[in-house]
Amino acid sequence: MWLSDNDANDAGEHRRRRGPSRRLVLPIRVVHAVSGAGEHWSARGRRMLVVDLPFALPGRFWRGNLHTHTDRSDGALPPQEVARRYREAGYDFLAVTDHFRAAYGFPLTDTRALRTPGFTTLLGAELHAPRTELSSEWHIIAVGLPLGFPPPEPGESGPALARRARAAGAFIGMAHPAASLLTLADAESLDAAHAVEVHNALSAREDRADSWHLTDILLTRGHRLGAYAADDAHFQPRDPPACAAWVQVRARSLDPRALLAALKAGHYYASTGPDLHDVALHDGMITVRCSPVRKILLTGGTPGAQVIEGDGLTECSLPVAMFGHGYCRVTVEDATAGRAWTNPIPLS
Ligand SMILES: [Zn+2]
Ligand SMILES: [Zn+2]
Repeated sequence: MWLSDNDANDAGEHRRRRGPSRRLVLPIRVVHAVSGAGEHWSARGRRMLVVDLPFALPGRFWRGNLHTHTDRSDGALPPQEVARRYREAGYDFLAVTDHFRAAYGFPLTDTRALRTPGFTTLLGAELHAPRTELSSEWHIIAVGLPLGFPPPEPGESGPALARRARAAGAFIGMAHPAASLLTLADAESLDAAHAVEVHNALSAREDRADSWHLTDILLTRGHRLGAYAADDAHFQPRDPPACAAWVQVRARSLDPRALLAALKAGHYYASTGPDLHDVALHDGMITVRCSPVRKILLTGGTPGAQVIEGDGLTECSLPVAMFGHGYCRVTVEDATAGRAWTNPIPLS
């Protein structure tokens, strides 16, 4: 086991840090300055999503995919077969998000009949409207839409459409920013977004699965956004495998309303493999407990990172001091390069 400094040059010095804590003595509880969850307005007038750590909240984690296509748009499989595959892969819930385009009759795929004991669905769509700086259309995930949500109106912009979907009750995700080549100006204009799709498994085919760079810039500019991972599964023959990127949502029950409320409150983490059992902030230290991993990282709005590497790491404790009063976030990586990410954790 060893410690590495990911960006010692940038930090201008080598910092000595505490090694991984094998036996945690810190109390496992959420202790940070922000209490409660929901929307607040920052001093700069921006809407902020205050993210509480979900790990100590009542209930349990429910695994789900927030971005999925069926043959109601350009997916290969009917909704019932898509739901069956996710259910059999051990998922607890699924949001089908077919492309809400005129070419497909503006589908808002009704998956309620596919709910079974132990498996539920959220209703949603991937919304499109012209246009971003470098693309002819927006891609916006809306989960929790009501049936009958009206199609885009002529001239309605992507950000306006997203605001309308949010007002209708949906959780709004900024879909695959890297693959869409979203600019910072685009991203800042999507002011209805609850979260950024920081990992899109389908975009791995063009080596643009991750969108953390843009997300970190948004966060440092005062936007408090969640971070989710999703498949964007289409089940077409040449696509990457589905069931590869998901969220774990903390809620008291598998009721769709409870899941949706938890998503809006930021009570979830994202993964392509590892499980996060507990992440807590206490006395300037982040403690992490997880399934066995080879690396645990703490990053944030300051270049550099706190890093611990080793075989079969399942817990550690890392200082947050280098991130000042900004934010930090935890990434873990397992032996097969699967990763899990917490939502950004506000430090002020
Ligand atoms: Zn898309
Ligand atoms: Zn999609």
